[in-house]
Amino acid sequence: MLVDGKWTGPIFDQHMHLDRTNRFLDAVSDFSKSGGTAIMLVHKPAVSKSLPTDSQGYREAYSETISMAEEIRRNFDLEVGLVLGPHPVSWENQIADLGLKKSTELHLEAVSLALEHIDSGTANCLGEVGRPHYPVVEETWEAANEMLLEILSMASSAKTSVQLHVEDNGEGTCQELSQLCRSAGLPLDRAIRHFAPPNISSEFTHGLSATVNVGKGSIATLTETAGRSSAPWGMETDFLDDRNRPGAVLGPKTVPKRTQELAFSLLSSEWEESKVESLMQNIHSDWPKSLYGL
Ligand SMILES: [Zn+2]
Repeated sequence: MLVDGKWTGPIFDQHMHLDRTNRFLDAVSDFSKSGGTAIMLVHKPAVSKSLPTDSQGYREAYSETISMAEEIRRNFDLEVGLVLGPHPVSWENQIADLGLKKSTELHLEAVSLALEHIDSGTANCLGEVGRPHYPVVEETWEAANEMLLEILSMASSAKTSVQLHVEDNGEGTCQELSQLCRSAGLPLDRAIRHFAPPNISSEFTHGLSATVNVGKGSIATLTETAGRSSAPWGMETDFLDDRNRPGAVLGPKTVPKRTQELAFSLLSSEWEESKVESLMQNIHSDWPKSLYGL
């Protein structure tokens, strides 16, 4: 609902990492106090520490993330969903130590384990899975795409949603990912390009859904393209809660702030109030609820 141009309904950050050794609940408090009502907590890979080297290691790492979600629910009046899965950067990093075959096997085992949690209801979405966002040698790139196709097929059979971590090659990335999802039989409204740029026009997204990383300047492009989007989209910060990388991503207050900026911007560009309300309702409640079953 809009009151004097201000959105008073739900506000959902669909991609946030948290860390017990850093801000954790303090960051959630910032989000909640700024008007946030729901988050998807995304499993944070221990890339800078030590990555799991077997499925037991993944079991333990996942259970830590699950317990963090429970702790947030106990302390705040927020909806908290969980995105569980092995990060593609972990896979690429571990090729050096484990070799391509073993690293791929471990990665797929970690996907299966995450799908078990989703099936039993302790997690709500697979992710972030995808492919490296930086240049890699040809052999690795081919292997990454083969593996991703397999992961998407597994997600399709499990009927879950997937948050995708991919490179930023603009429209080309959307086109390739849409094609991969179609090959895997995964519906595009359940395949979410995470860290997406703010162009949400269907010419750009090729039908792939997105969580837009709502940085400075994103509101102008969202306002300009929102009328031409066919695929559903949401908002995220990709907050990392990492003291070694302050400012690398957006802070926990950002989604509530940009939501109000977008409402103001759309109303100023002659969108009717009821149209802005239904867009906000879809971004922050209807679509994410259907994705994650919250
Ligand atoms: Zn992330």
